Amino acid sequence: MNTRETVKTVLVTGGAGYIGSHTCVELLQQGYEVVVVDNLVNAQQESLNRVAKIAGKAPVFLRVDLLDEVALDAVFSQYSIDAVIHFAALKAVGESVAKPLAYYHNNMTGTLNLFRVMAQHQVFQLVYSSSATVYGDSNPIPYREDMPLASTSPYGRSKVMAEQIMMDLSAADERWNIASLRYFNPVGAHPSGLIGEDPTGIPNNLMPYISQVAVGRREHLSIYGNDYMTADGTGVRDYIHVVDLANGHLQALQLLARKHQRFSAYNLGAGKGFSVLDVVKAFEKACGQSIPYKFEPRRAGDIGEFYADASKAATELDWRAARSLDSMCADTWNWQSKNPSGYGQV
Ligand code: NAD
Ligand code: UDP
Repeated sequence: MNTRETVKTVLVTGGAGYIGSHTCVELLQQGYEVVVVDNLVNAQQESLNRVAKIAGKAPVFLRVDLLDEVALDAVFSQYSIDAVIHFAALKAVGESVAKPLAYYHNNMTGTLNLFRVMAQHQVFQLVYSSSATVYGDSNPIPYREDMPLASTSPYGRSKVMAEQIMMDLSAADERWNIASLRYFNPVGAHPSGLIGEDPTGIPNNLMPYISQVAVGRREHLSIYGNDYMTADGTGVRDYIHVVDLANGHLQALQLLARKHQRFSAYNLGAGKGFSVLDVVKAFEKACGQSIPYKFEPRRAGDIGEFYADASKAATELDWRAARSLDSMCADTWNWQSKNPSGYGQV
């Protein structure tokens, strides 16, 4: 079994993306060798130039599509991979409802190809990007890892299915050693302001939308619903700083290196919720200007409130969210104000 000393090279799928790029920084800074595969469907290679600037060391970048199993196999033949962190996926919930085939094909076929190639090359250490969406809309809050899984969109179901596949794999072959990390709401950016979230088109998510309003790219924020059963009526989520989240992956790699557990899932959240209005106020403080907003009807499919029970990650991964909502907003603003058009302006 691998120990920390023998896990030297980590393959990061989707490493040019938002969470992947932040995780690459932490991996490189901790002395891992990093090989990124990404087809750049939702990222720009510039993110990895910035990663190299922050870390003082570049990851290997290979423009490979996970749907191309032959190319993926060649990556494992060329590099001696010890563990894989699997971020690559399409992630827009609404788009997945409109294009289920594209989502299932990319997220499921890509994942199956990866697992098959890993097994062929005897690589069984895996950290998987799951999501709080696997808890569906009928579990009580806070969400715990042992609750039943269900989801309300093709995107969410691709995460539930991937978790089921990983459970089946680890039941069939004890060599698999898998941590599935269920992220709550990742926001923020690296404090350097060099990397951050760079959504294509109109942002679907709250924090990038607010920051584009602040930078003048959008007129106002639409707040979807002020009649939820929450303190101020707006939706409540468990926001987590992307650097904390990135560090959760390193903790998971270390856990896999010291303990063979076959398959285990962990919530990565702060364990407490903030409302949309809480986030707007914190962002106004960070950027020193007011964020115009209008209340609109609830967004279809939205849940009023959810947050994590984060105790399993604390006990087993020795991981806790450390950064505050204020620092999530300050770091988002630092990134957005230095890069008003994201990586487009290079
Ligand atoms: P992202 O879109 O920024 O990153 C995903 C990366 O995967 C992109 O760089 C994209 O180009 C790449 N990719 C997609 N399909 C690919 C393929 N077939 N082959 C190779 N590369 C491919 O998204 P992110 O926010 O960094 O999310 C990373 C992971 O975390 C995803 O699996 C996502 O579902 C999951 N997740 C994200 C959130 C969130 O709110 N951001 C929440 C929960 C879970
Ligand atoms: N939200 C909003 N306006 C927006 C985007 C999001 O009011 O433009 C709200 C949304 O209804 C939810 C919260 O902000 O209550 C977080 O939404 P996001 O899409 O970021 O995360 P998710 O709903 O996927 O957890």
